[in-house]
Amino acid sequence: MVLLLFGPPGCGKGTQSRLITSWLKIPAISTGEMLRAEIQAGTALGQAAQSIMAGGGLVGDDLVNEMLLQRVSKPDCSPGFLLDGYPRTVEQAEYLDRVLDDLKMPPAVVLHLDVPNDALVGRMSSRRQCPKCSRVYNLLHQPPRVAGLCDDDATPLITRKDDREEVVRARLEMYDCLTRPVLAHYQHTDYFQIRGDRSPGYIFEEISGILEPRLGNVQQAMEAG
Ligand code: AMP
Repeated sequence: MVLLLFGPPGCGKGTQSRLITSWLKIPAISTGEMLRAEIQAGTALGQAAQSIMAGGGLVGDDLVNEMLLQRVSKPDCSPGFLLDGYPRTVEQAEYLDRVLDDLKMPPAVVLHLDVPNDALVGRMSSRRQCPKCSRVYNLLHQPPRVAGLCDDDATPLITRKDDREEVVRARLEMYDCLTRPVLAHYQHTDYFQIRGDRSPGYIFEEISGILEPRLGNVQQAMEAG
């Protein structure tokens, strides 16, 4: 099963991705996380992406598509995988269709977490992340057990540069003009719109209700692979 977790920045994709992939035992692939890792490692791709990301823009399709292809071609992706933050443009969606076709994987199931823009700005400015394990917290709804420290490894939490309010607004504009049209690309597929302005537990319950009837496919692919 290939899952696309769709939604504006700050809608809770990271949290749902963790819940879904630990339940289904499939890898979560976040192109944002992969790009941040490239920046940290100081690679050429990281250097090309750094200033674009800091300003809230989108990294070029060719760079992101190539990075995605390398990742989903790895053996751990053969039973399926979840994509978080990709595709973000119609070009990326068309590229992904070709990749899934080449890898003989079924068309993706699209889970769209929808949250009104006004709610998102507040949410993102209260977001904190662990720089070591990438776990995301929200000071309002999901604070760490000890203030300022990651529950899993006690690393001091940080505010991502692109979670500052002016950058958040730029990212939401980018989402509205470039990424919303991608949803039209998926209108004739397995597409589910889910209200994202609820607690993570309710959202996950709805998502697991959607996916459960489709799980036979994952099991078969795991047995075959
Ligand atoms: P995210 O962690 O998904 O919010 O992504 C953080 C930033 O990484 C975005 O604001 C973009 O600058 C960049 N990025 C992540 N995924 C993509 C993508 N699929 N296409 C282009 N840029 C991306």
